[in-house]
Amino acid sequence: MQHQDPYITLISETAPVATSTHGGRAKCLQRLVRLSLPVPQTVALSFKAVNDIAEGRLPPMAELLEPFGENPLLCVRPSSEDPDWGGPSAVLNIGMNDATHARLSAQIGETAALALYKSFIRTYSVHVERLDPDMFEDLPASGPEALSEALRAYREETEEEFPQDAGVQLSAVLKSMARAWRGTTARLLRQAKGAPADAGLGLVVQEMALGLGNEGECGSGVMQLVSSSTGLPRITGRYLSQSQHREALREDSRSLYLARDERGPSLEELEPEAYARLVEYCELMRFRLREEMQTEFTIENGNVHVLDALRVSRSSRAAVRIAVALAEDGVIPRDEALCRVDPRALNEMLHRQVDPSAERDLLGSGIAASPGAATGRLVFSAAAAQAAKARGEASILVRRETGPEDIRGMHAAAAVMTERGGITSHAAVIGRGLGLPCVVSCSGLGFDMKLERLKAADGRVLKAGDIVTVDGTNGAILAGETPLIEAARDDAFQSMMSWAWDYCDIGIRANADTPADAEVARRFDAQGIGLCRTEHMFFDPGRLTVMREMIFADAPADRRTALDRLLPMQRADFTELFRIMQGKPVCIRLFDPPLHEFLPSDRAGLRELAEALSLPLSDVTRRVEALSEYNPMLGMRGVRLGITVPEIYEMQARAIFEATIEASRDGAPVVPEIMIPLVSAKREVEMVKTRVDAVAAAVRNETGKNFTYRLGVMVETPRAALRAGEIAPHAAFLSFGTNDLTQMTYGLSRDDAGKFMSAYVKQGVFPEDPFHTLDTDGVGELLMIGAERGRAARPDLILSICGEHGGNAESIAFCRDAGFDYVSCSPFRVPVARLAAAQLRIRPTLPPRAFKTS
Ligand code: PEP
Ligand code: MG
Repeated sequence: MQHQDPYITLISETAPVATSTHGGRAKCLQRLVRLSLPVPQTVALSFKAVNDIAEGRLPPMAELLEPFGENPLLCVRPSSEDPDWGGPSAVLNIGMNDATHARLSAQIGETAALALYKSFIRTYSVHVERLDPDMFEDLPASGPEALSEALRAYREETEEEFPQDAGVQLSAVLKSMARAWRGTTARLLRQAKGAPADAGLGLVVQEMALGLGNEGECGSGVMQLVSSSTGLPRITGRYLSQSQHREALREDSRSLYLARDERGPSLEELEPEAYARLVEYCELMRFRLREEMQTEFTIENGNVHVLDALRVSRSSRAAVRIAVALAEDGVIPRDEALCRVDPRALNEMLHRQVDPSAERDLLGSGIAASPGAATGRLVFSAAAAQAAKARGEASILVRRETGPEDIRGMHAAAAVMTERGGITSHAAVIGRGLGLPCVVSCSGLGFDMKLERLKAADGRVLKAGDIVTVDGTNGAILAGETPLIEAARDDAFQSMMSWAWDYCDIGIRANADTPADAEVARRFDAQGIGLCRTEHMFFDPGRLTVMREMIFADAPADRRTALDRLLPMQRADFTELFRIMQGKPVCIRLFDPPLHEFLPSDRAGLRELAEALSLPLSDVTRRVEALSEYNPMLGMRGVRLGITVPEIYEMQARAIFEATIEASRDGAPVVPEIMIPLVSAKREVEMVKTRVDAVAAAVRNETGKNFTYRLGVMVETPRAALRAGEIAPHAAFLSFGTNDLTQMTYGLSRDDAGKFMSAYVKQGVFPEDPFHTLDTDGVGELLMIGAERGRAARPDLILSICGEHGGNAESIAFCRDAGFDYVSCSPFRVPVARLAAAQLRIRPTLPPRAFKTS
């Protein structure tokens, strides 16, 4: 039957019901009807109808009620376009009145009928009439007076009798649900889940299938064919006799398992036929709806009714397994399976996570800088983290911010949290590289580094040795030990990755500084190393002292002596990297940070240094002060060091060439790439190139071995992007360092932006943190200018980005469109980048919020 009102639609196989007009639930119910599943009679109200209801224009109620016959008993559920956007809670048993109560008493027993009526009066009073729930507090729970007392309480509060007319009840329910959708909280909640400001709500009015009665088995439950946490096949859910809706899922010892289970009785044993039918329905849904669905059902006198079906909620790991299994079973094609998983989910599944079902005792939060979760004892210095590791204890390293001298502590810790910093600050970058959970900018947690204490906003004080859990995926610091779920790199993950290769049409390299990083990069099939930050190699205790001697050397000859000691160490580093990468390209960035980062900042460190160098403390202090800068990020660093202290780059170039010869001796031929950081002028490149070429010629002469290499430029200053046309003729490649480029384009310190970034994003000043999501308008324009001018001057120029944006789907889309050759990101994000790139090729217009996990 087709209703007169186009906005009220009786769901049938052919009725005009669409997700965009009636919502996902209504559409799904129509699909179930098309599969001939036993769905109770359902009417869908469109977004337009519900909007009218909210504004006081009710649909023709007689027409709406007509399909349900005399004395109907109904339920209303929300049907938003995307089920994740939520909606008001379902209201059940609409139509309960004195007459229905009498009828049901005969049918299902007095007690059950009474409980139903009473519970409806309560729901109606609290959720529809918005009365105070306390009014039902002291009423008798059962017996005939329980009902009369509930009706009396309603009368007293409203000065009206409880409505007996199903139409009146239904109108009031519809109105209250339609208006609830417009409430501020509901709007903010759904917008946080990606709903547009004008998202509509549909409603479905469905005949109740009671789940109560005494003529055969009656009850309700939910069933799904896979585990929500692993995605592995397992019939999951619960069933509860004499229950409705999702009562079976509440903690109730009477709830049954569905399939036979050694932990307790099951529906399969109690009602084998109904069980078998349900499994059959779920399998049919999987095949025909092409998705794992959770089915809500009732059994009424032995007969199964399917009330609703929702996409199974799923962890990241389950999302991958479900998509792969659907493709392997021929339900969906591979390209669709690839598009069903949010690339970010891969990053999550590669790290331990806080169990989503665990209770969280939140101490404070900050910026989620590196995913994963870990529990450990608080330590307040890198040395303490190392000592904890030596004792076999997991530690959480707490720092105001980290610097290069913390790297060894970071290696030893299970997670890191800092008071300051942003998504591209030191702790964040190193954390992601190491796969170490990290939360930065935890400014709400008072950091007292002297007393080694943290103070939570609620007054709790934590001291060194206390146990906390760092949730780097969600940016939370939790008290005590929280249950974690293990990282998974299972066969489903491997299949998905190998399928992604077939579609990926942009190169994916990894940023890897150490052999351990390079191993991870290779394991994830990175096509090379796009950025090796060499300075991280100097923080080993043995090397740091030599490095400091080099910094303190007065004359170039003394400096060379120190560098001669560093040379074999660097050569060994590079040889190992080349060997691990087995002939794949390795791009080594010449020394970048300001020298003073290698010097101690406290008195004890200065004294130690004075001892090591046999210099008076006052000398050392003076030299350290002389090296300090007002604004080191814009000071003597990168190529500026290469120009003013050329011996450092010369040593590094020599180490790279000698390692090239070494690694090519017994492995695949190596073609190293050498990258000059922080360039802003053509002349810088010319000068460094002349010196590097001279070192190459010297090494060739000395060894009698030939090799090739590529010299390129890291575009991190706006000027380098603007002048790419004159820089490119001297560079085989341009790699955009979008961390510094973002910092310099906005004039925004990447280490301090965390302090106000969330206020900026909340107030809509910036749509996103530009250190996290590439600013395609401003920074992007510089990238385009650099790429175009560079390529015009040198058509074979290789273009890439190697800032932290390299692993983001949005940045990859940008780089792909701009014709970049590759992106480079931290090793754990290589799978993310690869899947994102594959998706862009499969569906270039895939909306960014097309994926859902639980
Ligand atoms: C960059 O600036 O984008 C970059 C990759 O270099 P770093 O983060 O080491 O400054
Ligand atoms: Mg940089």
